Amino acid sequence: MTDSTQPSLLPEDLPPEFEADLHEVEADADDTAGTHDTTMETIVELCKRRGIIFQSSEIYGGLRGAWDFGPLGAALKDNVKQAWKRSMLQLRDDVVQIDASILMHPKVWEASGHVQGFTDPLTECRTCNARFRADQAVQGDASTYECPRSDYSLCDFGPARQFNLMFQTHVGPTQESGSEVWLRPETAQAMFVDFAHVQLTSRQKVPFGIAQVGKSFRNEITPRNFIFRVREFEQMEMEFFVRPGADEAWHDYWIAQRWNWYLDLGLRRENVRIRPHAADELSHYAKHTVDVEYRFPFAWSELEGIANRTDFDLTAHGQASGKDLSYYDQARDERFVPYVVEPAAGVDRTALAFLVDAYRVEDAPTASGGTERRTLLKLDHRLAPITVAVLPLSRNDKLVPTAKHVADLLRGRCTVQYDDAGSIGKRYRRQDEVGTPFCVTVDFDTVEDDQAVTVRDRDTMTQERVSIDRLPAYLDERLDLG
Ligand code: ATP
Repeated sequence: MTDSTQPSLLPEDLPPEFEADLHEVEADADDTAGTHDTTMETIVELCKRRGIIFQSSEIYGGLRGAWDFGPLGAALKDNVKQAWKRSMLQLRDDVVQIDASILMHPKVWEASGHVQGFTDPLTECRTCNARFRADQAVQGDASTYECPRSDYSLCDFGPARQFNLMFQTHVGPTQESGSEVWLRPETAQAMFVDFAHVQLTSRQKVPFGIAQVGKSFRNEITPRNFIFRVREFEQMEMEFFVRPGADEAWHDYWIAQRWNWYLDLGLRRENVRIRPHAADELSHYAKHTVDVEYRFPFAWSELEGIANRTDFDLTAHGQASGKDLSYYDQARDERFVPYVVEPAAGVDRTALAFLVDAYRVEDAPTASGGTERRTLLKLDHRLAPITVAVLPLSRNDKLVPTAKHVADLLRGRCTVQYDDAGSIGKRYRRQDEVGTPFCVTVDFDTVEDDQAVTVRDRDTMTQERVSIDRLPAYLDERLDLG
């Protein structure tokens, strides 16, 4: 994957750990050995049953390509975004964040090439009149598209035409010509349009990046695979501005960084791969792109694109707006239009990959010496919607005040759920199923004897007695918060 013809690294532009990081990247994982304990149907069912993710507007029959994240799903998504921001922003000082408007001047999308070229090929069946993505649907093949009549033998696709994926709407009270705007199909353009302003006011020097997390909208022809391909989704994008000539090395650097991020948060190595784009697959702006792909139960599919966008965007916006978007490098006494390396990830797809990868079914020992099947999400504690569940053995008046006190003691450091409904065994299973790393049980010994609680580990199911005094420090250590 590393191009040996690229320029040697430029010491003043690249952090010293760069080379070591790159060795971690594997260009291609084994294509055959899947390691899933689950199917998409199981994940969809779990998400619906536990209120993690479910259809938007469900009481009206739902809206295709739109999903709602319930309390646990919203927490999972927040944690994904938080982990991304921590790695892309908090732990470094060469990337700054913006939160730009979704509605932008229409000229942005003309200059960027989206009005002209942000399209997918659309084909219509002459017999059932349903529409499909021409590059994905194979006539008569039920595995590639959904015929509304399920009679694939009768389908007869017409010629493909280009369909623009941007949602158009109007600003102002009338829908007259000239009032059209688009819902952004990516967050990236704001980083280009705001480049000069942000660079100046944040006093960043090239190389540096501008990051943004936010909603994007695409009128996908065939939304499918649960939250994998939807019409409204969130992106985590970062545009890293570099000196022309340093772009290829920085591209490799960001591929390594992003690869490590997915593995560090627990995706199994055999389920992640880096796939370089073929020349005929590259976007109009890109010189070189790789996708980080995850082995979903349905297929290897993109989680993130990491593109070398060259100076295409800043040049295009500079020309279209008449504003100077070049950069003056004082140290080198050189003016240039920066090249851009862009890691662009989807929050929803990433959350789905973490859910699928974490899903396990195991045989667990029971108190009576037998075994029973348990389902668990082995989510990294940084992603788990609930970090600690506090469980009083029963609703007995003697236990409740202490259990509430324990929950309050922990709330400031992590996400805590107080759960007193059902047998302890059932509550453990319930927490396992949504990935809660620790359950803290308050029993009669706690209040009458040792002022200690039982901490149960989700993965090993081992139980440890920990004094309430020591509990915060104990959890800090287990959660690496110390
Ligand atoms: P695809 O080829 O799957 O349509 P893309 O290459 O068009 O994706 P990008 O434009 O590179 O996607 O967007 C960056 C990221 O945004 C993607 O890697 C993906 O995680 C996310 N994303 C893009 N489109 C969607 C969508 N319709 N639903 C959910 N996430 C999406």
